[in-house]
This record gives sequence, structure tokens and C-alpha cells, in this order.
Amino acid sequence: MAARKTTSRKPKKQPCPDCQNGQILESFQVGGRRKRVSDDRQEALCLTCLGTGEAPTA
Ligand SMILES: [Zn+2]
Repeated sequence: MAARKTTSRKPKKQPCPDCQNGQILESFQVGGRRKRVSDDRQEALCLTCLGTGEAPTA
């Protein structure tokens, strides 16, 4: 009987460097004359990892 080695490789997932948990806090940069009433920040989907929270593998 040949012992089969099952090499189940699990790729290490690296966290996205640009966000945490796939969400970023977008800060509004509203300068100028028009002062709009808006929240300072808004949760947005990270475009680097597309919300997965993991660094994209090239
Ligand atoms: Zn991200």
C-alpha cells in the first residue's frame, strides 16, 4: 500500500493592504465655496480587493 501524500495546498490569503474587511472609509473632500451637508466619511467598498478584504492575487 502506497501512502498517498495529499498535498492540499491552501494559498495563504493576505489581507488587503488598502482596507480592512473590504471596506474603506471614503473621506469626502468637499472644499470650495459650496458647502454641502454631508457626512465626513462614507463606507465604501474597497476597490482593491472588491470587498473581499484579501489582497488580490496577480
Ligand atoms: Zn481592500
